[in-house]
Amino acid sequence: MKKIIILFSLVFLGANAMAQFTVPALSYSYDALEPHIDKQTMEIHHDKHHAAYVKKLNDEVTANPALKDKSIEEIVKHVSKYNKTVRDNAGGHYNHSLFWTVIGPDGHTLSGPLLEDINATFGSFEKFQTAFSDSAKTRFGSGWAWLIVEHTTGKLKITTTPNQDNPLMDVVKEKGTPVLALDVWEHAYYLKYQNKRPDYIAAFWNVINWDEVSKRYTEAKKKK
Ligand code: MN
Repeated sequence: MKKIIILFSLVFLGANAMAQFTVPALSYSYDALEPHIDKQTMEIHHDKHHAAYVKKLNDEVTANPALKDKSIEEIVKHVSKYNKTVRDNAGGHYNHSLFWTVIGPDGHTLSGPLLEDINATFGSFEKFQTAFSDSAKTRFGSGWAWLIVEHTTGKLKITTTPNQDNPLMDVVKEKGTPVLALDVWEHAYYLKYQNKRPDYIAAFWNVINWDEVSKRYTEAKKKK
């Protein structure tokens, strides 16, 4: 029996190791964002939704040798080369992998160059917060709200994208490096907030990992 279990484990690990893309583990527990984002939503969102994007993307890799050994960034940056399934699922994988890192349990406060840039660009942090929240609220249907460092100007900008598109994609009009992301698909909030997307957006401000967002900002500015 033990041998069978070991053999099964090896087969399972082997299959996993062969997959080009995997769902990254959260660096915090599923209930760490309570009461703002509930445990069940985190479980389903991470283990089911994100996992489904990864599975479908890996299926596309199997079907299309052009995707083999490409990083997720490479795929999304040149996503116009691929079909709609790749666009949706590569976007889904990239966006969620980012999202899990820019939210977190510790209410890190924002300070330093990113705060200074936000104040200079939007007038104040409160004005930025209002503008970002309004964009997230008015994104029709499923999609994402973003704070990006715009590729052309190197400036901070708030944008939104439909479905699983993101600002790195060559098919998107407003291009930039994402530093903050908010998932406004109903699956991100419906269990707790039902149709009240604005309440979910208000709660989001309590779980932003500003250390990670600032790190992404610094890296994005270096690229400019
Ligand atoms: Mn989602």
